[in-house]
Amino acid sequence: MITRGEMWQAEILRVLNRSHAPVTAYEVLETLRETHGKVAPTTIYRAPSSLADCGRVHRVESLNAFTAYQCDRHQHTSILSICEECGSVEESVAPELLDEISGLVGRSGFSPMRHVIEVHGMCGSCSMRKLQA
Ligand SMILES: [Zn+2]
Repeated sequence: MITRGEMWQAEILRVLNRSHAPVTAYEVLETLRETHGKVAPTTIYRAPSSLADCGRVHRVESLNAFTAYQCDRHQHTSILSICEECGSVEESVAPELLDEISGLVGRSGFSPMRHVIEVHGMCGSCSMRKLQA
């Protein structure tokens, strides 16, 4: 038995999985309207955010958007590399780097709760394309 909320979450995951670039809550809503007709914004708006809160999708803070996980190890913090040319997002995992950052900010007594590391630039294939152009 799946609830309506779970049904929408599955639909939203499908939208995020299909897109190679991060998607805003508004774009999720627009996409779902194409396939499901009338969808109330209140149904959708908070859903990507709650999926991110429970570690099922990435929140891309600098774009106010969401992207699907690329690997199966969900509950971790990733470093997101965001291509400003094509919008693709690459995910890297470096727990030792996060420990190091926690240690660094912790020197003043600060208690880190979550890390957000987003790097903007150009992906490998866009860089190649630029070189060849
Ligand atoms: Zn690119």
